[in-house]
Amino acid sequence: MANLTTTASATHRPRLKGVVFDMDGTLTVPVIDFAAMYKAVLGDDEYRRIKAESPSGIDILHHIENWSPERQQKAYETIADHERRGLDRLQIMPGATELCGFLDSKNIRRGLITRNVKAAVDLFHERFGMTFCPALSREFRPYKPDPAPLLHICSAWEVLPGEVMMVGDSLKDDVVCGKQAGAFTCLLDETGRYDFPEYANVNLKPDFKVSSLTEVYSLLNDRFDLAP
Ligand SMILES: [Mg+2]
Repeated sequence: MANLTTTASATHRPRLKGVVFDMDGTLTVPVIDFAAMYKAVLGDDEYRRIKAESPSGIDILHHIENWSPERQQKAYETIADHERRGLDRLQIMPGATELCGFLDSKNIRRGLITRNVKAAVDLFHERFGMTFCPALSREFRPYKPDPAPLLHICSAWEVLPGEVMMVGDSLKDDVVCGKQAGAFTCLLDETGRYDFPEYANVNLKPDFKVSSLTEVYSLLNDRFDLAP
């Protein structure tokens, strides 16, 4: 059941013209072990220190931004290595194909924003068989949680951010990006991890929360005006 905390009233349903998806952990089954990746990049002690400071999650790209070029290069290689291992095991998220088919049937646009690299997006497109357009990867700066990629997609589509929903499994990247852009936000929380006490004081709430992509279908139908 979707957690309906939006301000939209039952009588006036907002128009929805596009949905922008995160890729890893949203359209694909999570295969990247992020904790292992962060530990490999930061080292155990630094990982623990940063994790304690940022309960809503670690922004690894941000942390390595000011490192020396050699150290940064090594970090990028470690990240790429973890991402490559994830790609080998890439699986499409259950419900993703059906949801995208539904959006297509309603002429609702589909976009993608990921902090992963373009090569990963290309492989995903190949496996998924449907293309997201625009699909912005890490090469597009600044990346999520900055709202820039989402605003870029809105202007490419010639729609307002308020007519778009950002769907993703990361509160700190996807929900923050969506909120800052002024879009609706839907957090995919398959395991209920965002219900854990460590998130109780995180002052950031998505408009909607679902535990599977199949719930997004009824959420869109019930809460939005999908008329062309
Ligand atoms: Mg994700």
